[in-house]
Amino acid sequence: MGSHLHAEWPFATSKKAQESPRPFLEKTLADLEPLANNSFSGTMNNVVEFSCQGCEERVKVLLKAIEAKHHAACLTCGLRYRAEKVDDGWMFYPDEPPFNCDSCGNKTYVASGRVKVGYEFPCRSCGRKFVIVRSDWRYAPLEKLDQEAEPK
Ligand SMILES: [Zn+2]
Ligand SMILES: [Zn+2]
Repeated sequence: MGSHLHAEWPFATSKKAQESPRPFLEKTLADLEPLANNSFSGTMNNVVEFSCQGCEERVKVLLKAIEAKHHAACLTCGLRYRAEKVDDGWMFYPDEPPFNCDSCGNKTYVASGRVKVGYEFPCRSCGRKFVIVRSDWRYAPLEKLDQEAEPK
């Protein structure tokens, strides 16, 4: 393989140039190998992507993993999802109970791994802040909690 590669390489007469293409080629092959192992027909088709409802980051999951487990999890915030097959792909539903905002009525999803007494989180829609007040996921708006804490 070496001879015709070198013939096309314009700087083949320089010793330094002879050495430099080889590490480059090896690095490229090493970079490609993991992708090739994961895929028969095209890497992009084997990855499903959706927006996390807990943190709005993109969640990428291997199709094989979803088909096997019907579950996915956001690597950024830890929110878990139930995956359901639909006609042209997959639908992901948060697999944790949402918090309903007192002010705007919208749901906010918080990963259960983060839910503990004292954990504060904002409403995804209106930004109102809530705090977990009991270990069974009872929560209260932050402002109201402050008022109630004042003895009268
Ligand atoms: Zn997330
Ligand atoms: Zn709200």
